[in-house]
Amino acid sequence: MARRAGAWWAFLSVDAEPVAKRRGVGDALPMSENRGPKAPRVRVVCATCGAVLRPLDPRCPNCPSALPRTEYAERRFVTQDRGDIFRFAGWLPSAATTATPIGPTVFRSERLAGVLGMADLSVAFSGYAPEIGARNATGTFKDFEALPTLLYLREHGCDRVVLASAGNTARAFAYAGTTLGFTTTLVVPETAASSVWMPIPPSDSVRLIVLVDSGDYAAAIRLAGLMTERYGLHSEGGARNVARRDGMGTAVLEYARVQQRLPRHYVQAVGSGTGGIAAWEAGMRLRASGFDGPLPQLHLAQNVPFTPIHDAWTSRRPIEPDRNVAGQLERIAAISAPVLANRTPPYDVGGGVRDALEATAGHTYAVTNAEIRGAQRLFEACEGVPIGPESGAALAALGQGVARSWIRPADPILLHVTGNGDALLKRDFVLHPVPVWRRVSATDDSAALRDLDRAFAP
Ligand SMILES: [Zn+2]
Repeated sequence: MARRAGAWWAFLSVDAEPVAKRRGVGDALPMSENRGPKAPRVRVVCATCGAVLRPLDPRCPNCPSALPRTEYAERRFVTQDRGDIFRFAGWLPSAATTATPIGPTVFRSERLAGVLGMADLSVAFSGYAPEIGARNATGTFKDFEALPTLLYLREHGCDRVVLASAGNTARAFAYAGTTLGFTTTLVVPETAASSVWMPIPPSDSVRLIVLVDSGDYAAAIRLAGLMTERYGLHSEGGARNVARRDGMGTAVLEYARVQQRLPRHYVQAVGSGTGGIAAWEAGMRLRASGFDGPLPQLHLAQNVPFTPIHDAWTSRRPIEPDRNVAGQLERIAAISAPVLANRTPPYDVGGGVRDALEATAGHTYAVTNAEIRGAQRLFEACEGVPIGPESGAALAALGQGVARSWIRPADPILLHVTGNGDALLKRDFVLHPVPVWRRVSATDDSAALRDLDRAFAP
C-alpha cells in the first residue's frame, strides 16, 4: 500500500474524496486548487523509512541503498488538457513542461486479443507509430524518462548531466538534450554507438563518448560515475532518478485515464526492472487517489540466457554482482533483446524490483530468442505495426503466464510494448546519428580519464 499521509499533509486543505468519484477522471483541474501556501508540490522520500531526502542527491542516511520515491501534494488523479506526457504533469516532479510529441498511448486490442483468446487485453504502445497515435521521438519508452529528468534537473539549478546507456536511453536523452539545449554527456559501449540517432539534427549540447571495443554496459556506468565528480557533472541517477520512474509510470496512468480503472496484470520486459518499479508506484498512487481493486500484478520478462532478475526471484536469492563477468558478457551477447542486459539491476534494495514483485504478488519469466521472434511476428500480423525484441519478450511472457494459469484470459491486462525499433521512424524521418565526441578505453579507466581531461579542460 502507498504510504499514507503524515504530518506533512496537514498543510493541505484538499478533501480526501478522489477525483475518480467526484469528477470525471481526466477533467482538468488547476494545479493550484485547494493547495495550502506552505505545501511543496513534490518531495522526495526514502522508499524504506519515509525520510525526506534532498531532491538531487536522494540517499537516505538511515538506509543508503534504498531507492528514493516522489510524494506529490496533489494526491488526486488530475490530468491536464493536452495530449502529451505532460497531461500527467501533476505527478511528474518538474513543475515546468515543454511542447513535445512524446506521450503514452494505450489501446484496447481486438485482433491480438482474439488470437490469444483474451477478453480484456490493452496495449501501452510506447514506440513510434503515428497510425495508432504513438509519436515517441526515438521509438521507445525511454522518451518518457528523458524530458522529465532534464526539466527536473534544470529546475534544481543543474545544467550538465552525464549518463551511461546500452543504447536507447542515450538516444532519448540525446533528443531531449537537443530540444531543451541541455548539456548532455552520454557514455555508451561501442556495440551500442550505432543505435544513438535521432529524428532531428543533434545539437552541440550533446556529447557522445564511446568505449572502444566494448559491449559492457556496466563499464559505461563505471566511467560515467568517475566523470561526475571529476568534471562537476550531475549523474542522471539511473534507478535512483525519480523523474525517470515517474515518466515511465505514465503508461499506467494513461490506462487509468482512458479506462477509469486499474489493470489486473501489468506485463513488461525488463533489464534494470525500473519499469516494473514505476508501474508499481503508479499503481499505488492511483489506489491512494481512489481507484478500487488490488495493485496491478507485475509480470516481468527477461531474455534467455541472461536472466538475473528472473533467476534471483525464482531462487529467492540476491543478485550477486560482478561474479564471472566474462560469463555474463558471453550470455548477454547471446540474447536478441540487448536493451534487457543489465548486470546490476536495483533488485535487493528498498523499494526495488524484489519489493515491487512481493507487493504485487508478481511473477518473472525467461523467454527464448525463438519465442521473442514468434511474438514479434504475431503482434505485427495482428496489430499492423512492428515491435522491438524487448516488446516481443513481454508478449511471449504474457503467453507463458496464461499457460501457467497465472493470468486468466478474462482478466484486464496491460501489455507494455516498450519500443518498436526504427523502421517507422526511418519511413517518416531522416535519422541523424549522434556524432562521436570522444573514444576512450573501456578497460583502463585512468587512460580514459586522461583523454577526457583534455576534452573537459576549460
Ligand atoms: Zn530510509
